[in-house]
Amino acid sequence: MADLFDKLKKFSQAKEAMELGIYPYFRALSDSEGTTATFEGKEVVMIGSNNYLGLTTDPRVRKAAADALERYGTSVTGSRFLNGTLELHLELDRRLAAFVGKEAALIFPTGYQTNLGTISALVHKGDYVIIDKDAHACIVDGCMLSRGELKRFRHSDISSLDQTLSRLPEEAGKLIVVDGVYSMGGDIAPLPEIIDIARKYGARVMVDDAHGIGVTGDGRGTAHHFGLTDEVDLIMGTFSKSFASIGGFIAGDADVVHYIQHHARSLIFSAALPAPNVMAALTALEIMETEPEHNRRLWENANYMRESLTAMGYDTGSSNTPIVPVIIRDDYRTALAWQALINEGVYTNPVVSPGVPPNQAMLRTSYMATHQREHLNRALDGFRIVGERLDLIDASRATRAEGSLA
Ligand code: PMP
Repeated sequence: MADLFDKLKKFSQAKEAMELGIYPYFRALSDSEGTTATFEGKEVVMIGSNNYLGLTTDPRVRKAAADALERYGTSVTGSRFLNGTLELHLELDRRLAAFVGKEAALIFPTGYQTNLGTISALVHKGDYVIIDKDAHACIVDGCMLSRGELKRFRHSDISSLDQTLSRLPEEAGKLIVVDGVYSMGGDIAPLPEIIDIARKYGARVMVDDAHGIGVTGDGRGTAHHFGLTDEVDLIMGTFSKSFASIGGFIAGDADVVHYIQHHARSLIFSAALPAPNVMAALTALEIMETEPEHNRRLWENANYMRESLTAMGYDTGSSNTPIVPVIIRDDYRTALAWQALINEGVYTNPVVSPGVPPNQAMLRTSYMATHQREHLNRALDGFRIVGERLDLIDASRATRAEGSLA
C-alpha cells in the first residue's frame, strides 16, 4: 500500500545543503534596523529586503502603528465582510484609489490573497487568463483557483503574447496579468505594447505592481510611469514592500471592485488586516505623497549599485529598477557565494531553481532609499572579494561595461 508520506524520503536537497553548511533558508535575523541587520551574531549590510523606501524604521510609521495598537488592539478578529472593517480600512481604500488614479480600491490581508481572490473572482469557466512566464507564484495560484483556462506567454515577449491570444476564441472573456516590475529580474513590463495587444483582442489587463508602487512612476507605479493608468483595468499592490507593513490591495473601476468585494473568497473567508498594519500603510502612503525625496534617493542608490556591479564584471541581467539580480547560474555556486558574502557582512537572497528557471540561479539584491554610500560600498567590497575568490567575475564583461560607461 502506498503511504502518502513516501514522497518525503525523496526530498533530500535541503538536508544535503544543511549537511554542507550552505543551506540559506529559514535562517533567522535577530535584529533589523533596515539598512543593517544582525544575522547569526554578525552585523550585515541588508541588500536582501523589499523595504525600498526604508520606511520600516521611519519613526512616524512606527508611532502610527503603536498608537493604533493602543487604540484598536491586536486584531479585528473577523473578515472585512463582517466585523473586520474599521473606518481605517475604508480610509485606506479611498486613499489608495486616489494615489494610483483609480475610482476604487480594496485592501486584502496580504498581497498573495489579493491575487488569489481577484483572479479567481473574475475568471470563470469559459474565460481565459493569459500570464507572463515569469509572473509571480501567487498570480499562477490565482489562475489555478479560477475555473478558467490558463495560458502563458514568453517573458515580456509581445509576439508570443499576440500569438497566444490569436489562438483563443473571439467570444471568450480574457484577462492578461503581468507584473509591473518583475520580482527576480528587476525589469519593467512593456505595458504600452501589452495594452495594444489587449485592445486588439478585447482582453482586460491587470498589473501586479507589488514592486512598482513606491518605486516606478515617481512612486505611483508602473501604469503611471507609462501614462497608462486609464488603460490598465486593475492595479494590484502589496504593503509588504514600500509600505512597510503587510497587506495588499486591488484598484480599478468602482463596479469592478464592487464585484471583487462580493466574490473574492480569500477576502471574504479570511480575517482583515489589524489596525496597526493599516495605520503603518496609511502613514507610509502619506510619506510617499508628500516626500518625493525618498523615491529619488532609492533610484540614486539602485543606479549606483547596478552600474558598480556591472562594471565589476557581474551579470545583472536586464534589471532597470532597484531589484538588481547577480546572475551566477549554477545553484551550488550561488549557495556558496551567498555564504561567502554573509562571511563578508553582506546579506543577499539566493534564488535557485525552481524559483528561477534552471541555470539562472542568482543572488537577488535590492536597495533602499535609506542606504548610505558607506553601506553600499561595504556591499561592493564584499562582492569584489567573493567574486575574485570564487571566480564569479567576467573580466570581459567588466571591460565592456567600462567602455559603455565612458
Ligand atoms: N506579487 C509579487 C510580484 C510579489 O513579489 C509578492 C511578494 N513577494 C506578492 C505578490 C505577494 O505579496 P505579499 O507578500 O503581500 O503576500
